[in-house]
Amino acid sequence: MHPYLVTFDIAALMLCIVCLVITLLHHRTDKLQNKLFISLLAIIALGSVSSLVNTFLSYDVSGNLPAIYLSDYFYFLFHTALAPLFFYYMTCADGVRSRYSRKEMIFYFVPFIMCEILVIINPLTSWVFYFDADNVYQRGWALNIVYVIALLYLATGASELVRKWRMVGPMRQTSLIVYLLVVLAGVFVQLLFPDVRIELFAEALALMGAMFSIETEDDRIDMETGVYERRALIADLLSTSAIGQTARIVCIRLLNADLVVRMMGPAGYETLMGQVAGWLKSLVPWYRIYRTSPTSFTLMSLSEDYREADAWSVAVRDRFEQPWEAFGLEVSLSAAVLRSSMPDELATSEEVLLLVDGHVSSENAGRILAGEKLDYLKRSSQVERAVARGLEEGNFEVYYQPICTVDGRVCAAEALMRLHDPDMGNVPPDEFIAVAERTGAIDRIGMFALREVCSFLASGLPRELGIECIHVNLSMVQCFMPSFVRELRETVGFYGVDPASINLEITESVTASDSKVVSNMMKQLSSDGFQFSMDDYGTGYSSIHSILAFDFDFIKIDKSILWDAEKSENGQKILKSTLQMMSDTSHSTVIEGVETPEHVNMLRTYGAGYLQGFYFSRPLPKEEFVECVRELSDMQPAS
Ligand code: C2E
Ligand code: CA
Ligand code: CA
Repeated sequence: MHPYLVTFDIAALMLCIVCLVITLLHHRTDKLQNKLFISLLAIIALGSVSSLVNTFLSYDVSGNLPAIYLSDYFYFLFHTALAPLFFYYMTCADGVRSRYSRKEMIFYFVPFIMCEILVIINPLTSWVFYFDADNVYQRGWALNIVYVIALLYLATGASELVRKWRMVGPMRQTSLIVYLLVVLAGVFVQLLFPDVRIELFAEALALMGAMFSIETEDDRIDMETGVYERRALIADLLSTSAIGQTARIVCIRLLNADLVVRMMGPAGYETLMGQVAGWLKSLVPWYRIYRTSPTSFTLMSLSEDYREADAWSVAVRDRFEQPWEAFGLEVSLSAAVLRSSMPDELATSEEVLLLVDGHVSSENAGRILAGEKLDYLKRSSQVERAVARGLEEGNFEVYYQPICTVDGRVCAAEALMRLHDPDMGNVPPDEFIAVAERTGAIDRIGMFALREVCSFLASGLPRELGIECIHVNLSMVQCFMPSFVRELRETVGFYGVDPASINLEITESVTASDSKVVSNMMKQLSSDGFQFSMDDYGTGYSSIHSILAFDFDFIKIDKSILWDAEKSENGQKILKSTLQMMSDTSHSTVIEGVETPEHVNMLRTYGAGYLQGFYFSRPLPKEEFVECVRELSDMQPAS
């Protein structure tokens, strides 16, 4: 009898025991994946025990025949379970699978049960193995079936793995390849040298590797809170959709994180997030919680019953109505709960990420948003795509709306952007400008508008029509871009346009947010001759200060002020005194939203400067705009 035999079996047994202890000490026991891992360890341990016993008994074959038979019997009983268990482990090591469907049960479990039955009834049938008349161990025909089925399990597992390879993640990919090679080497060596019973040891070694890489899930866990991170959610969503399972998603969006960070500092905020994660773990199994961004947690329910996710949403909303405590401070975290499901409501993992990244306004604090209330998220992602496509394919167009004197002469125009998307139709600017500001595309859209306007001005047509300048809207983002001044100067220079014929409109909220940067930009461009208008005066709350602090040539009074004047006497007083104030402070005014002859008459008597609105014309494509201006000037009494 060769001493190696015992050495490898003892080593395999010891490895399994150490791994079992570590796994149990780390409480990695609750997921199906963990349970399978523990079963694998146990099976290999029992296999090595029966192999050891077998080896010792074999020193005296004839005397111990019943005991040897028994140890072989148990060896096969355990070893038959190994390949199916490896297979089950592979199918759920993607982190998602929690159970098998009925069809899968039959498909995956029946061959395994069949093999076990073959082994169990072996004392009666001797189909798997037997001892011949000379007490020599012999393989039975059924052993081949057991081996073939084991091979099929491993092959199916491997093909499943190949199918999901992309979702497995680089660290797991490497580990899985290395461990597979170790096991194969073990099997191969034992096949060549049947006396060197190294297979179990190789398997135990591979499992130890899996324990440190796959079971610890270091690549999936957010260290701060001990729950899964964003990448894990993406991988798990891909896995659920691959097996056709519905995932119900509950996303918790913290809406006042900025404030809390200011109150407690970044470290304090993270401590608080740890507490939130801790509370979530009391509600939901930890492996269904993801920290998807610094200000969000996402829960995933794989239950057939939709009520599980509903119950989680309600519990979360209710908990966030109560204060949280950290460092003896009571903190209110305001949160919105977004609930949806994949694939019926959100088709792909990218759409699910809209719940995590999409804009949620602070008004939604304390609310559960689901169903139709989340449609806007999908819409905004469509708009996002339409904007990107629009820039590629040239779906943007600049329209022009005339700005007139009180007696109806066109003296300027406002350039207004339009997006004609082949799928979505005309997307309103209020919608795509906001999206473009979030994605950064506004910069390119803004420059496109400026180039169009410059080329129009350079054609000389506007001057012919009596248009002194064209107004161009600037977004907040453009105002804060250090390169903006240079790019604008280059564009104007390229077209040979007089800067004085461009009037840049800035809303007052821009001036309110960082006055230094904006006033710097305005100073540089004003000295070139560019004009500036404050847009939407009367809709914000810092208007008067901004008028004093910045050097605006024009103030554009928001349509709401005009429309309010139509409704009440106080409204009239406000419009009148606003116009008076602007004239006293030497600001020209443009009144927006002029729609009716009554508006025009009222504004004439109040001494308004310039008028803009549907009464004269809607914003029009360039050619139609030119026509329209010609018609409007034809209606003018000859001077
Ligand atoms: P805004 O700068 O206040 O533009 C005036 C808006 O009022 C335009 O809406 C115009 O069509 C509309 N309007 C003009 N006269 C009347 C009227 O008599 N009645 C009514 N009800 N509305 C009138 P539009 O074109 O839908 O643009 C909406 C907003 O989108 C603009 O508001 C502006 O903030 C933004 N926007 C449009 N084009 C651009 C652009 O090229 N760049 C940037 N940054 N923003 C743009
Ligand atoms: Ca404007
Ligand atoms: Ca406006």
